Amino acid sequence: MAAQQTVEHKYVYDFAEGNKDLKDLLGGKGANLAEMNNLGLPVPPGFTITTEACKAYLATGSEPDGLADQIEAHLQALERTMGRRLGDPDDPLLVSVRSGAKFSMPGMMETVLNVGLNDRSVVGLARQASGADQAASGGADRFAWDSYRRLIQMFGKTVCEVPGEEFEHALDEVKRAKGTHNDLDLDADDLRGLVDAYKKIFAKHTGREFPQEPREQLDLAIRAVFDSWNADRAVLYRRQERIPADLGTAVNVVSMVFGNLGPDSGTGVAFTRDPGSGAQGIYGDYLANAQGEDVVAGIRNTVPLQQLEQLDKKSYDELLGIMARLEQHYKDLCDIEFTIERGKLWMLQTRVGKRTAAAAFVIAGQLVDEGLIDLDEALHRVNGAQLAQLMFPRFQFDHGIQPVAKGIGASPGAASGKVVFTSARAVELAAQGESVILVRRETNPDDLNGMIAAQGILTSRGGKTSHAAVVARGMGKTCVSGADELDVNVPAKRFTVGGQVVDEGDLVSIDGTTGLVYLGEVPVMPSEVVQYFEGELDPERTDDALVRAVHRIMTHADATRRLRVRTNADTGADAARARRFGAEGIGLCRTEHMFLGDRRELVERLILAGTDAEREDALAALLPLQRADFIEIFREMDGLPVTVRLIDPPLHEFLPPLEQLAVNVAVAQERGEDVAKEEALLAAVRRMHEENPMLGLRGVRLGLVIPGLFAMQVRAIAEAAVEVTRAGGSACPEIMVPLVGAVQELETVRVEAEKIIAEVVGDSGVEVLIGTMIEVPRAALTAGQIAEAAEFFSFGTNDLTQMGWGFSRDDVEGAFFWRYLELGIFGISPFESIDTDGVGRLVRIATEEGRAARPGLKLGVCGEHGGDPDSVHFFHEVGLDYVSCSPFRVPVARLEAGRAVVSSTGSDSR
Ligand code: PEP
Ligand code: MG
Repeated sequence: MAAQQTVEHKYVYDFAEGNKDLKDLLGGKGANLAEMNNLGLPVPPGFTITTEACKAYLATGSEPDGLADQIEAHLQALERTMGRRLGDPDDPLLVSVRSGAKFSMPGMMETVLNVGLNDRSVVGLARQASGADQAASGGADRFAWDSYRRLIQMFGKTVCEVPGEEFEHALDEVKRAKGTHNDLDLDADDLRGLVDAYKKIFAKHTGREFPQEPREQLDLAIRAVFDSWNADRAVLYRRQERIPADLGTAVNVVSMVFGNLGPDSGTGVAFTRDPGSGAQGIYGDYLANAQGEDVVAGIRNTVPLQQLEQLDKKSYDELLGIMARLEQHYKDLCDIEFTIERGKLWMLQTRVGKRTAAAAFVIAGQLVDEGLIDLDEALHRVNGAQLAQLMFPRFQFDHGIQPVAKGIGASPGAASGKVVFTSARAVELAAQGESVILVRRETNPDDLNGMIAAQGILTSRGGKTSHAAVVARGMGKTCVSGADELDVNVPAKRFTVGGQVVDEGDLVSIDGTTGLVYLGEVPVMPSEVVQYFEGELDPERTDDALVRAVHRIMTHADATRRLRVRTNADTGADAARARRFGAEGIGLCRTEHMFLGDRRELVERLILAGTDAEREDALAALLPLQRADFIEIFREMDGLPVTVRLIDPPLHEFLPPLEQLAVNVAVAQERGEDVAKEEALLAAVRRMHEENPMLGLRGVRLGLVIPGLFAMQVRAIAEAAVEVTRAGGSACPEIMVPLVGAVQELETVRVEAEKIIAEVVGDSGVEVLIGTMIEVPRAALTAGQIAEAAEFFSFGTNDLTQMGWGFSRDDVEGAFFWRYLELGIFGISPFESIDTDGVGRLVRIATEEGRAARPGLKLGVCGEHGGDPDSVHFFHEVGLDYVSCSPFRVPVARLEAGRAVVSSTGSDSR
């Protein structure tokens, strides 16, 4: 038998072997450390254990074959490079063991520092450190024992699940005995004592002594990092951020450098531009004589990075040079963590930095100016969610008011108003014209009316997928959730925060983008981006960097996109605004609102008509009103297509509710009044009552059951188009039939409509298309047949989602979606972003079969998904001709339609 050669899987990469494009394998931190190393930047030597190793470990519960040997080989190489051995009693090499997944998951996974310290090497470390400034560092002994106690604490907590409080109590105890609150007042003897106490705690909880063998410490720490991928908080974070669960984390083993070796040492973070505004400059914080965890713990105050110039000019200049180099190299804003050990600068981390929505646009524009990226890349680097955020009102910059709490920015925007604690009170005050903020521990479906009435919603519990967050986003209402510094007492109608009591009626302000909460009224400003879209700000003249950047990128998106963008509008005012926002026509003009208000009475006459003559009378009275509506819209959309949908909702929606009517009739009868008309109405409402009206007599069914109804609408559309065109305009109507499930329905409507159109249009030159919505699953599945009778399809993805999933769109979002999101059954509501696997598949089938039956069939979408970033990418990919969305979403859809062309990776630029 031929000898079988097994090729060993490579699980460990030296920093010299990786690069920034290997994030899948080496995680973000590892890939970027390797990249910096390759650039010749001062990175402490080390190696990365791959995500593959993590996945293999998590799948089997033990380290994959070969991993231990590969770690040993890399460790030995590291020891040679450093001229020290791990945990050597005389001159120890110490390492940090850090997690690093493909996507940043701040604070979610584990890190262990100072691995390699034990009862013997602590003495060697003290000797190594003895060149330190004794006065400031508290001495080398102090430093060594402090490092050892940190190792036991971190190792105990993260590797062996020893409760962290026990270590904190022991530390507090030593400080109390010493009469101080400050860690820095503890001397070497105190810390030596603390190490003993920590070791006892460790032994008590684990049943074993703290491991003295350096390699065992390292192996256990690596295992703990692997395991932390599946820690509850990490799982929850991934679900919320929609990070796939099967990526695993890499582990970085890096030689330790110390920022706490005296005043010529320190640690800091820096950004190459302002991540808040995008402005160029140097932004960052520095803390002398400290380790990174001290910065996070906030024990001492950091100083602005610029002050490093006075403290250590050499390191400062070197850092600035490196920052410029990193920006040139990554062609983007970078954030950086660094440490200075006795005057020597070390780069501990870099990555493309997170930024605000405004900064994303401004920086993309700057980088184009600097020749680092082209406009396609700039377009790829911003997204519709950021643009949407910039279109909300915001608090005035520099308002100078300090926040009192920070929760989760659950639904963007800025809101200010009086505090209320109950839904009823919110409704009551809002009815008096007051702005209110509904404050609850958490909301539930009973709070819905209050949420509608309020300007904003503030909760002390719950995350981005809590009931409050989901419902508020659905309503486009500002919401801060999970502000856990608030102690909310609903029965007492007050909350306390930071020792302050806030009663019902007091003013608060909340920022749904940042999650910040303010007491009092913070002035709310309109969005300058909306002012630009409205034509109120000239992008060529303004000195507003954001507006200039938005203009430039939008212009490029328009030049790039294939999808057209229309709007859903049913009034002249909406149509006009959408046109200013860049809409290229109307994709859905719902006609139902035209039957409301003072026209209700005519509709009642229509519904109650006992004879053909009565019905025809009512329709004849409605005709001129409808015609006037359409004239206004055709004028606003002069030269652009306007899809008018024939009436869709069940007719009883135009009548008073059954219960109210029954009570009115009973009361009037009691008083002996003449109630003949009300009784007839009541009887009609009873007759029309449906258990499931959304699946009942609506859409095309209505048109086929009530003679003359659709005919009146078709006539009004055709007459309006002719009138506008004869007056010198250009009307391009498209008549759309709702809720079609079978081609025969459409054919029947079509025959009658064509007759009317031919009669009205005559030689005016007006062309009227007839098409249908595809919003019933059967229509999608028989699209080939339906296309025979339709010149266009418009996907009604609201109903298609409702009927595809079998859940009521009016009820379920508040009822149980929050739970589905929490459980990860949905990553996002399927009413918000198209469910590509299911509902999207129906769209794909109908597109293919419709086009096969009728080449040139016009295809669009007019459900809410038409303005959702991810969905726009899907519709681009499926090959629709246009998307249609509410006026405010038009710019978002334009941007994303452009991005869909330049980015093959979807709209997520995480
Ligand atoms: C739809 O169902 O997607 C649609 C646009 O129609 P409506 O929301 O009016 O039912
Ligand atoms: Mg519909």
